[in-house]
Amino acid sequence: MPQRQHDNETLADLTRQQPLELRLVMAMAGEREMNAREQQVLEKLQAVRGESLFADMLYALTRKSFPTKQAKTLWAEIGDHRGKLKKLLGRDPGVTLAAHDYLANVSGLLKGAGVIEEQKFQTLATSASRDGLTGLYDKTTFARILGDELSRQARYGRPVTLAMIDIDHFKKLNDTFGHADGDVVLAQVAEVIAKQARTSDSCGRFGGEEFGVVLPEVDANAGLALAERIRSAVEAAFGTTPYKVTVSVGVATGTPGVHADDLVRAADGALYEAKRGGRNKVAVAKEIVTNI
Ligand code: GH3
Ligand code: MG
Ligand code: MG
Repeated sequence: MPQRQHDNETLADLTRQQPLELRLVMAMAGEREMNAREQQVLEKLQAVRGESLFADMLYALTRKSFPTKQAKTLWAEIGDHRGKLKKLLGRDPGVTLAAHDYLANVSGLLKGAGVIEEQKFQTLATSASRDGLTGLYDKTTFARILGDELSRQARYGRPVTLAMIDIDHFKKLNDTFGHADGDVVLAQVAEVIAKQARTSDSCGRFGGEEFGVVLPEVDANAGLALAERIRSAVEAAFGTTPYKVTVSVGVATGTPGVHADDLVRAADGALYEAKRGGRNKVAVAKEIVTNI
């Protein structure tokens, strides 16, 4: 099985999961000197995140998500605003204050937001934990990401799709080849899943031989396409091995505002249908899940 590009992927995951450090954002805004390591981190971030970096910087400053294009414009406007404030005050107010003043009082985009000191930011920013065997997000982290994505996408009126994946007859595989081989297969299935997902998707291990993929901004059709890619990629990956591993996938799409529990239940129901339909299959929840 080909090796994944660990460096880039780890960084991509990090940039997505762990908000940029405020110190780095301040350095990027020219508020203080950037040291050599920060320069290196910034270069990697620019390569991996591209223009999404503007949204990342705003998120670090405000804990609010903005679409990339809007974030880029806002970042420029905040820079101008900081220049104006500097003239008025006779001193540099800094990027944090300029951003909050601009977003809250000029653009009205940050209603009721307060400035919080960095330490509190870091405490609030929950860290991402990974499952030891597969390297995917563990169940708790995955659940948090699902919740975060649902509320984030709801703000923009976008759908979120959840794919639940379960290895077929895994107990039999363990019984036939032993638990150690089972573990290797688990890690390899996880690798196939992660490879099929886009960088904006989040993959987690629910525990046991079950996985989930959160697909932000993805409707039912695109979700089905990814699920089918995962199913056939797993089948192909093990086709020439003695294991003959396959997976069943349940897919559910939620309209903006859907609750995580309802989406999980719908995906789980679809997964059950895929199993009942003979395994090595994808099933889609019949209805788009809504909170209405
Ligand atoms: P189905 O097609 O209906 O999903 O059948 P299944 O055998 O995959 O499902 P079942 O839930 O009966 O069994 C799941 C098995 O997964 C049982 C358990 O031993 C195995 N398993 C769970 N976690 C691990 C693990 O970390 N490593 C290994 N090797 N096996 C595990
Ligand atoms: Mg299972
Ligand atoms: Mg199973």
